Order: sequence, then C-alpha cells, then structure tokens
Amino acid sequence: MVSVKEISKENQISEDFLRNLFELSKEEISKFLLEQDKSITISYDKIAEVFPIEILEKIFNNPDIYLKQITDYFSIKIGKGVIVRIKRLPEKLRYVRIRDIRSTHKNKLIQTEGIIKISSEVRPFIVRTKFLHQSCGGEFWVKTENFRIESPKKCPICGETSGKFIEVEHEDIDIQRLLIEETPDQIEKGEQPAQITVILTNDLCEPKMERKTLPGIRVKIIGIVRELIPKKNQAISDLYIEALHIEPVDRDIEDLMILPEDEKKIIELSKNQNILDIIAKSIAPGLYGKDYDIIKKAVALQLVSGGKKKVNRLEERRNIHILIIGDPGVGKSQFLRYITKLAPKSRYVVGVTASSVGLTASVRKDEILKGGWVLEAGALVLASGGIVCIDELDKLSEDELMALHEAMEQQTITIDKANIHVTLRTEASILAAANPKFGRWDKMKNITDQIDLPPTIINRFDLIFILIDEPNPEQDSYIVKEILKGLDKEEQPLIPEDLLTKYILYAKKIEPEWTDKAKEAVEKFYLELRKKASNNAIPITARQLQSIIRLAEASAKIRLSKIVTEDDVRLAEELMMYSLRQVGINPETKSPDIDILMTGISSTQRQRISTLIDIIKDLEKDFPNGVPYEEILNKAKEKGFEESKIKETLDKLLKEGYIYESGDKKYKVIR
Ligand SMILES: [Zn+2]
Repeated sequence: MVSVKEISKENQISEDFLRNLFELSKEEISKFLLEQDKSITISYDKIAEVFPIEILEKIFNNPDIYLKQITDYFSIKIGKGVIVRIKRLPEKLRYVRIRDIRSTHKNKLIQTEGIIKISSEVRPFIVRTKFLHQSCGGEFWVKTENFRIESPKKCPICGETSGKFIEVEHEDIDIQRLLIEETPDQIEKGEQPAQITVILTNDLCEPKMERKTLPGIRVKIIGIVRELIPKKNQAISDLYIEALHIEPVDRDIEDLMILPEDEKKIIELSKNQNILDIIAKSIAPGLYGKDYDIIKKAVALQLVSGGKKKVNRLEERRNIHILIIGDPGVGKSQFLRYITKLAPKSRYVVGVTASSVGLTASVRKDEILKGGWVLEAGALVLASGGIVCIDELDKLSEDELMALHEAMEQQTITIDKANIHVTLRTEASILAAANPKFGRWDKMKNITDQIDLPPTIINRFDLIFILIDEPNPEQDSYIVKEILKGLDKEEQPLIPEDLLTKYILYAKKIEPEWTDKAKEAVEKFYLELRKKASNNAIPITARQLQSIIRLAEASAKIRLSKIVTEDDVRLAEELMMYSLRQVGINPETKSPDIDILMTGISSTQRQRISTLIDIIKDLEKDFPNGVPYEEILNKAKEKGFEESKIKETLDKLLKEGYIYESGDKKYKVIR
C-alpha cells in the first residue's frame, strides 16, 4: 500500500487542488454521510473543472498514486475512511474496446463496455493478513497479491528468514467477479466477441447493486486494468479490470447505428408498395422455392416483432416465434446462420451442443474465486431484445426445453439453484429448426408423432413451416434456373445487407395503433373459424388469435406504418393459414384441427379412443376375464373402423394406461 508520506514531492497533488475538489463535492459528501455509504462518486466534470490537464492525465495514468491522494485527503477531511470513485467519463475518453485491452493499460484507468455474461456470488475476500513472527514476536501486515495469501519469506521487523510465521488476523472486503463480453454492435461481422473479467469490491457488490450486475445487462465500466501474475513457470498472464464504477447502459443498439443518411434511405424504401416482398427477397438470396418465399416473409415480420412497449402489456409477449421442420438438405442451417448474421442482436446455437454453450442460463462452481457459485447467461439472455436461432431444436436436453418453455411464454428464466435465486429477462424471438423424427416428413402423420418435442413447446410457436424435399417439376426447374443464373454473376440482394439490418432496427421501433376496421377483420376471422368447429375439432384457439395480432402489428411496422390496417390482418391470416394447413391439418379428415398442436391427438383419434374404450367396457360383460382381441376387432369393424387404426389405437390405450392386457391378447379397461 502506498501512503501519502511515501509519495515523492514531485508526485504530490498540491493541496489547493484537493481542497477545491472537496469544496466542489459538498453534495456528494453529504449524501455519503446521510446514507452511510462507503464511497463518494464524483462526476468527471467536477474533476476536470478542478485539475489542470497534466494532473488529470496523472490521475488516469497512475491512479494508484494520484487517485489515492484524493481518497486520503477526503478520508482525513471527513474523519472516516472513504472510497472515492469517478463516474461519467466523456463517451470516447480513455475508452478501450475489450479486445484492445493490453498490458500497456496495466495499472491505468480506462473505461469499457460490454454485456455481463457471468456474475459470481458476492464473497468475502482477504485483502491483507497480519502475521506474527514467532522468533522475534513482531507482527506485520501483508497485502494479498494475485488472490493468494503467501507466507512471508522474510520478517520485515527483525530481518530474519527463518522461524515460523503465524497468521493472526485478516482484513476482508466483499468481492464479486463478472465476466463481460463485447456486444454484436461493438464488433465487426464474423469476429468472435472478446471477454474480460471485472472485479467489483466493497459497495459495488452491495445488495442494491444486484439488479445492475445480473447476466444479460449491458454495462459501462470505469476501472483500473490489473495483471494477474501467473503461477510459477507460466509466461502468460491475465489482465482483468478492478472496477471503480459500474453503470447499466440504457441505450439500445438502435440509437448507435442509424445515421441521418440511413434514415433517408430507409424511409424511401418503405414507400414501396410491396416492401415486404422486397425485404423477403433480400433475405438469404441463395435459398429458393415457394416455401422459402413464405418463410422469408414470416421471418421478416419476426425480425421487427409485433406490438409496442406498453406497461400493461409487459406480461404479454411481443416476440414472434417460428419453427421450421425440414427434411435433411433443404438448407435450414444455412438459413438460420444467414438470419443470425442479418439480425441486429442475435445468437446462434445448435441443440446438441447447447447445453455446453448454454441456451438459457446455468449455475456452476466458480473456477476463479474458488468455492462459490457463478451464474452464466446463455444465448436467450444475451440476445434479449433480439433473436435466437436454434438449430436442431429436437436435440435439446429436457432441462433446456423446460427453461425454453418459460422463456418463450413468460420471457423470463428463473434460476433457483445453489445460493442463486434470480429471474432474468429474456425477450428474445426464437427461430428454430428441427428434423423429422424418421428422417423425412410424412404428410399422412401428425406433427407430434413426427418430431421429438413436447406439444407444450410446439404450440408456443406462432408459425410452423414444413420444408419437404420432394420432386416438384415446376419448382425444380425454377431452382435450377436460379442457380444457373447465379453462375454468371454474383447474387446481389435487392437491399444490401447492411441497409437491411438498419431497416429492421428502424422498423422495430415503430409502435402502430389498431384501426377499428382492422380489429373487426380479426374478430371476423376468428369467429368464422371457431364456428367451423365440428366433431369436437377446434380449428383455432385464443393462442392463434394472439399470433394473428402480433403478425398484423409486425406487418404494419415493416411498412413503417403507424396504423394496423385490414391488409395487415389479411397478411397475418394468410401466413397463419399456410402454417396451419401444413401442420394443424388432421391427416384423416383434411380439416384444420388445432388439437393436434395442443395435445398431439387429433379429434378423430380422440373419438376413436373413447369409442374403443366403450366397446371394451361393453364386451367385458360377456368376457369378465378380459376381452379377446378378435372380439374387439369385430365390434370396432362393425362401427366402420379400419383394422390398422384399431390396432394403432389399442397400442395407444395400452401405452397411456387406459387398458391392460389381462392374458394372451385379452384386454380390460382400467377403472
Ligand atoms: Zn521477526
């Protein structure tokens, strides 16, 4: 520790300056005293007002000596130990990107910005230890270096190296470790985000700070770069930041990127009658086909998302979730990667590796501050406000699926493990891809039988699309032509990618209002479809109604329109019906049946199940020890059931525990 006395004359800040700063900080000092704070945080403005530039530079380049003098002066004047912190540096002043922090910054003050990826528990940290030298009886303090307490080699009192050194006392402070990471807008496309450890001490990790230091929060940090000196024989050291001040950054990336000339181009583009088509055609121009044309429109709407930020709609999600189920080789992964690149705030994860990379959030042992726990944010938390592309959704673990379920509907992730109990916000749209269970999609089978996902997840998607790789002369010839065209010249999207990203950012902020006509259109569509419900088949539920509303709002936003019109509703309905026709259709009756999505059982199946149970119950009067299979078959055939369906239903009844086999091919109903 450096004390004022040890500072050589030329390194001392003249007392006049210190006194001026003290006078200027009266307000901060009274807050410190009234609220019994541990620190006084002074804005850069005041510091710059008091100190000439050369002293300012010294404070920044050598805070251990110069900031310390301010701290000591304040402590003496107030008559109580105080930590002096600095806040609100001008935007560019001493700003270093995480990736650019080097050993030249060591022991200097910088500011940087990033999103919190990992946040540890708050733990006591021993800053210094008092040793007793047994030989001479002398006691002395040793400061902790590199997070390690080293036994002294030599007694500073008697100068001897031999004899026992005994720890008699510790002085500790609270400490918390964060890992912050660069955000997509801070890095060039294709660069991996860089990370750095940030150590918070004392009052920076008080409970009232917790909401500012949760994973997923974007923060600005002012701190001193430190070096973690390596263990013996290691040549590589690690840099970290000892924070002086931490502050959540409110602004969204939206405000950073759109320049006035961009805005002009965006508004010009929006005047196109068919702007949605133009945008859709500009997305992943290398992927063609009728299905992709529709999917691209839907994803364009997903990128701007529905709704508007109203307090009372906080619980209601505005994000649009889309699932693409497709045969191998239809370009799903390619499409997802393209969207990840295009979307302003995005993450890409693959189901099978998601548990290690982290889709939601995880709690694990802290490897650095040994013994404690850390909370690590996954893609859904880090991309909150943006989009998460999940490839191979069907390969996610059960735990991840459960967390995903909460994230998709409540837009939160609740962590309740070890000592960590928090709720993180995850306002991300999900664009997911999955493979059919049996390799290829079978139009004659229900969606829930063909995909390894629980219905509760499947029905959280607003739109589901099926991409089938089947021969289709018309489409095939179109695709061949398109690919051959691409051989002659490089494929140019209608809207350059950069501008498209900005267009999406811009459209996302629009908050459209509903016209009465548009409301009526939604009502009419909903009621008419509900009326068509027959044979207990419900074609549409309130959940689809919400989807229609979100999609119509997104349609207005992508036109940069402040109002939702009937045309927006019509487009939303088209997309919804297209999706329902692909997956919500009862393969037997060919009519839309939302039960398939909701429960995995179509209404025809359900009817068959209840009829079959009635048949068995009835026959049990004649066969009290169990009804032979042949008898069930005959009776059911009389009612017009096909043999294959009867077998299938019996198997389902057995599996689900409605009936049991009481003997060789004899069945009884469980009561
Ligand atoms: Zn000694």
